[in-house]
Amino acid sequence: MKARISDSIADHFRGGEMATRINRLDWSQTSLGKLDAWSQSLKSVVKTLLASSYPMILTWGTDFIQIYNDAYSQLIGEKHPAALGSDIRITLAEAWDTLGPMIETVMSTGVANLTPALLLLLERSGYREESYFSVSHAPAEDDSGQIVGMLAVCSEVTQQVLGDRRLRLLRDLSSKAGATQSVEATCYDALCVIASSPMDVPFALLYLRDSDTKRLILQGSVGIQAGEVVSPRRIELETNGTDVWSLAKAANGETILIEGIDEYITILGGAFSEPVKSAIALPIASFGQTATLGVLVAGISPSRELDEGYRSFYELFAGQISVLVRNAQAYEEERRRAEALAELDRAKTVFFNNVSHEFRTPLTLILGPLEDVLSSKNGSKVTTEEREQLQLVHRNSLRLLKLVNTLLDFSRIEANRIEAVYEPVDLAVFTTELASVFRSTIERAGLRLIVDCPPLPEAVYVDREMWEKIVLNLLSNAFKFTFIGQISVTLRWYTEYVELEVQDTGTGIPAAELPYLFERFYRVQGSRGRTYKGSGIGLSLVQDLIRLHGGSVRVISKLNQGSSFIVSLPTSTAHLPTERIVSEHDLPNTASVTAAFVEEVRRWLPEEAGEQGSRGAKHFLLLCPSAPLLLCPYFTG
Ligand code: ADP
Repeated sequence: MKARISDSIADHFRGGEMATRINRLDWSQTSLGKLDAWSQSLKSVVKTLLASSYPMILTWGTDFIQIYNDAYSQLIGEKHPAALGSDIRITLAEAWDTLGPMIETVMSTGVANLTPALLLLLERSGYREESYFSVSHAPAEDDSGQIVGMLAVCSEVTQQVLGDRRLRLLRDLSSKAGATQSVEATCYDALCVIASSPMDVPFALLYLRDSDTKRLILQGSVGIQAGEVVSPRRIELETNGTDVWSLAKAANGETILIEGIDEYITILGGAFSEPVKSAIALPIASFGQTATLGVLVAGISPSRELDEGYRSFYELFAGQISVLVRNAQAYEEERRRAEALAELDRAKTVFFNNVSHEFRTPLTLILGPLEDVLSSKNGSKVTTEEREQLQLVHRNSLRLLKLVNTLLDFSRIEANRIEAVYEPVDLAVFTTELASVFRSTIERAGLRLIVDCPPLPEAVYVDREMWEKIVLNLLSNAFKFTFIGQISVTLRWYTEYVELEVQDTGTGIPAAELPYLFERFYRVQGSRGRTYKGSGIGLSLVQDLIRLHGGSVRVISKLNQGSSFIVSLPTSTAHLPTERIVSEHDLPNTASVTAAFVEEVRRWLPEEAGEQGSRGAKHFLLLCPSAPLLLCPYFTG
């Protein structure tokens, strides 16, 4: 039963608009009867309700007649003022399925309830709206103490609920940023996030520009089948084909609202699974002024209007996708570059290997006959002058051989093709022998060589050739950078491991350079040495060779005071591959390796230096990391 407005205005209630309306309504037309005759309890509840600035509504009697305050009138939109004095079951018919049982329970049990975010379908703005209320229902009693009504205090929390939900979606999307591996995976992740929130995004199509930027390619879709008329897999941007979503315009940077889509496609969505009527096409911005990355087409929930909050959520979402896609593109680009570099590196290693082999054969063929001539084995008679010339050729051939051998070792290690043979070695004796080959050169330079390699309790398993290169490299470096004082070679036994220390009183290394010293091709700029020559391979090779023995190398150095390189080598065999351990081994002839080291070091002495200068420089093919081929001056002597 609907009340009419009374002609005689009784001034029972005071306050705002609702007090006036209640005073003026002809309540005799309702089951509540004339206002004058209202029970004391009804009047006092209405007074309380009108005094509240919080939205409140009272239903009274078996007809659930509604009386509410000003704040509540704002909540129900177009339903006000007709709701006053009417049956709530009619006013909120669309939400009664939810509200009815709650109110009836309160009235039958007398126990109040509280729902923090109750989803209600409301038709207060011309459409079925998804809205949320924080509601508390309490029983209302008449003068006799019988429950005859329900008093509800409620407030709308729609914006908080939607805001939280959308924020969660954005957060889920941004949390994918760390895992960015490829553009494809990123689009998939973004679409998965979209699929998790059909209430906000009933459907979506994600397009990205092709590499030539002239077309959009569909990366995936949610809530809509890919490859249909409304979801083409590709769109040519420069031809005027069918473009339901104004993709071309959106790709140019415009945000487009598309309405009436339910006329040609049925997609159900929103809080109450209704046909989606509109969608938005958003550009996915790229960095700076360049063309957009693509377009996101997203459905608008039929249960929500596209208000500012909803629109800015979509803008943020498209922005987030843009960041993810750009990150993924950068990552892919980086990976492509790394792969190209790795390929170049592989090619370089193969090239090093091939070239070193090619150099070694003719060098060996030069050295053999040369040594025969010099030792007069083949009965050749050479004059003193010719002998000197040939010795020069011999020395330089040895030197060349050393360079080639280093390159070969290096490329083998790079290609994982170096094969160590570990055998028990009396490391004290062997190391002493190796150090001693430098003695005369070191002493001729006015330095002291101290070799302190006491006998060790056990043999140590090493690859002899490799150990030789480790010791010779460290010693020749020590000599290169030491002008006064001494060089010492010390071996120490620590049961589990053995330590070799090559110490010098040389120029030292700046602290800032130390972390990079063992990197391949690394050289300390401007360091003062007996020669400016070097390849930066030596220490990196030493480190690789030691690692092949399960050991490590470290450096301690002080500028202008000296350096100490300490090699630590495990003593057992547990860390070595069993198939590469031998008890006896035919010793390779490494005399030429040692000779080459000694020869090179000898040439750094001032009195020998003239030999290289006088003959002038020719060019030698040196292989460098940044420029695979480089012509460097090489002294022919
Ligand atoms: P190279 O000697 O061919 O340049 P290395 O890898 O053997 O290459 O050495 C790298 C750099 O480390 C050298 O260029 C040098 O600056 C520095 N270095 C190595 N050993 C010493 C040392 N004993 N004293 C001072 N500097 C050293």
